Amino acid sequence: MEALFESMDQIYRDLDQRLVPLMSEALCGPGCSLCCTGTGSIDINTLEGLRILRYMESLPQNIHARMRSSLAKDRKNRKQERKASCPFLRKNRTCAIYAIRPLVCRRLYSLEPCSERGPVLHKEAVSLGAGARDALQRLDWNGYSGHISYVLHLFDEPGFRTFYASGGFDPSRVMDYGKAHKLVIHRSLHGKK
Ligand code: SF4
Repeated sequence: MEALFESMDQIYRDLDQRLVPLMSEALCGPGCSLCCTGTGSIDINTLEGLRILRYMESLPQNIHARMRSSLAKDRKNRKQERKASCPFLRKNRTCAIYAIRPLVCRRLYSLEPCSERGPVLHKEAVSLGAGARDALQRLDWNGYSGHISYVLHLFDEPGFRTFYASGGFDPSRVMDYGKAHKLVIHRSLHGKK
């Protein structure tokens, strides 16, 4: 997995580098967390999910437990179609997993004050972000994408983590859960490796 995480970081770094000149015009600043609040889906892939899980497991038990509880609450809110903040947004409006935040958070900024319409980006940034997302999905060849708390919950299924980390691919074992939670199967999006 470490080589895959390193390749994922390289995709992040390439995107960051190409976004720097565009983001110089952004209005975003410290403490602004509109992108993390009342959002639609915060989509991540399984590779990002596994790294977030490992990070959570490295934290003190009480913080880990609090994060798991926020994830469970987020799943419940979504089931009831309530708007919810990201489960990793702290009370002080900072990100609890900032160093390993997923691509979807790295590619966002806004050229105008955010409103109901959400952030306003350069077209080039949208296209660069989509390219990086596709590259990550191809890298995570045996994986899935979807909302952050649903992807993380996949790893609670007995045996899934070991099977996935060994490169195993069997969408039938997540079919019902995947359909119910709109998870995307990477292999079905990008064809053969
Ligand atoms: S992971 Fe962090 S940056 Fe991304 S939406 Fe959640 S709180 Fe915001």
